[in-house]
Amino acid sequence: MDINKLKQDPEKIQQLIDLLGSLLSDTEQEPETTQKKRTKKKATKKPRATRKKPDKQESTNKFLDMPEMNMHKEDSKIDEKLQQFPPTPRSRPSVESISVRCRICGREENISQGLLFEGANRYKCNKCSTQSG
Ligand SMILES: [Zn+2]
Repeated sequence: MDINKLKQDPEKIQQLIDLLGSLLSDTEQEPETTQKKRTKKKATKKPRATRKKPDKQESTNKFLDMPEMNMHKEDSKIDEKLQQFPPTPRSRPSVESISVRCRICGREENISQGLLFEGANRYKCNKCSTQSG
């Protein structure tokens, strides 16, 4: 049928729509159409070919072949010499502590110098500091 001719005849279009509508209701009762679509999808499935992995030679470490690799080997001798001395511990073994006498209770204590704010003769121990006085 000619669509351009149909455009000039709206009544025929309406008839056609009605006809198509009736056709549509008919096809809905037919399960065959959907089954055909399903089988088509299955037919298009193809097993994928496994790809070959790319050559590993491209990713090899080229640095190993470079002369710079052996350039600083002598440094290891220095490292061995240095290792004779024990590594410096991260935490300081002893904080510089001083002995102070509490001006309240008279008890002597060793405290780190960093904790002394007011001077040794004005020191108050923890116990007396928490108490009033
Ligand atoms: Zn005290």
